[in-house]
Amino acid sequence: MSLYLKYRPQDFESLVWQDFIKKTLRNAIKNNKTVWAYLFCWPRWTWKTSTARIVAKAINCLNPNNWDPCNECKICKAINNESLVDVIEIDAASNTWVDNIRELIEKSHFTPTYSKYKVYIIDEVHMLSKWAFNALLKTLEEPPKYLKFILATTETHKVPDTIISRCQRYDFKSISKEDIKKRLEFISKKESIKIDKDSLDYIINNSWWALRNAINIFEQFIDNWEINYKNISSTLWLVKNEELKDFLNKLLKKDKEIINNYEQLIENWKNIKLFSKELLFYIRDSILEDLKENKDISNKLSIIDILDETISKMKNSIDENTTFTIWILKIINPLSNHFIKTKELNKTETNTIIKEIKKSNTIEKNINTKKEENKKELDINDIWDIFWDTSDTIKNEEKKENNIFDKQKYLNLLKELWVKWMIVASIKASDFSFNNQELTIKFKTSFVLNQVNSADNIAILNQALEKMWFKDIKIILK
Ligand SMILES: [Zn+2]
Repeated sequence: MSLYLKYRPQDFESLVWQDFIKKTLRNAIKNNKTVWAYLFCWPRWTWKTSTARIVAKAINCLNPNNWDPCNECKICKAINNESLVDVIEIDAASNTWVDNIRELIEKSHFTPTYSKYKVYIIDEVHMLSKWAFNALLKTLEEPPKYLKFILATTETHKVPDTIISRCQRYDFKSISKEDIKKRLEFISKKESIKIDKDSLDYIINNSWWALRNAINIFEQFIDNWEINYKNISSTLWLVKNEELKDFLNKLLKKDKEIINNYEQLIENWKNIKLFSKELLFYIRDSILEDLKENKDISNKLSIIDILDETISKMKNSIDENTTFTIWILKIINPLSNHFIKTKELNKTETNTIIKEIKKSNTIEKNINTKKEENKKELDINDIWDIFWDTSDTIKNEEKKENNIFDKQKYLNLLKELWVKWMIVASIKASDFSFNNQELTIKFKTSFVLNQVNSADNIAILNQALEKMWFKDIKIILK
């Protein structure tokens, strides 16, 4: 049996890092105050089914030990083997359940065959179909005494309120690095395996903060009842931080050299999967550092976003090296708009903007007045100011209290959009409004709307907005 399975928590006692939940659930069982529906909200990478099974065992155990399941009686054993017909485990995210899930829930009113309680464990409950939710709701309205539901989800916001309000909700905390460390130390003690500090750090950093991964890596490096870092580093080529830093800098600069030396790099990396993972962690940490210093993180965010996707693709890829190369090419492609840079406008571009702006009679009039006042040709910034002052919608937006609308930001936005000629359409927009969540742009003609309204353009607009306001803003084009 793998160490991961062997050291899955089997009772409340071993559920080490969820103290509050452990105490509350145990007390409820002790005082016979269990409810008929629990909603377990989990961050990813926690022992969800194990905890649900602990509850199923604890309420049904024939010989509980201080209200903890004994794991010895026939009921506990059958639940651990997943062979007890009264405990039904459903993975709502898996297609194999789709057809019979509703039927199963509808059958829940039949009395249990062997145990005191019939328990339904529904994992990823937010994935249930509308019909299945309705069947579940119906059952939750008048549940028989012997019926318990344990619903688990990683995406609580997708669970209908009608369901949430009928459940007792538990929010599980995510497993920290410290928790993983404690668990690994616990296992090494139990298994009498010596492990040094560097190895422990290496395993934790490569576990993606998932206990399952950590235990699997731990097991992989056991050599003669020992895990030592010398062995790890000789088995694997470990990537140095300097190399990662250099690599990231080249990506950010879209430096073609990165691909020229590619064969050499592959030769050096040896294990491309490992390299890509190390790189992912490195960029993640670097983003967190940048955030602390209020630096712009958008470019790194774009890189890590597609890298993350690439790593999942590599799992099913015919050739990992090629998949990884494609990722690099995507980033360094000079035509890619993975990063948007605020660019300086050249003269022709400036003139086109000015021409577009001047098309409004009021603006033209104001420009002429200002020109006479100042006795000089106006530059693009002066014209922007006039454009700004003239537009009623902008003024109205500025007046609204607590509005994030900001002249400089809008100016920057328009400049960014210039890249794809969006600016012309933006200026032609007869009306726009802004709030914390949405930017609505209403165009004068459907012709302009149709020109702008493409997935590509929306993506560019989205990126520009995200970069400037640093959050998701929904864009509505009318
Ligand atoms: Zn038992």
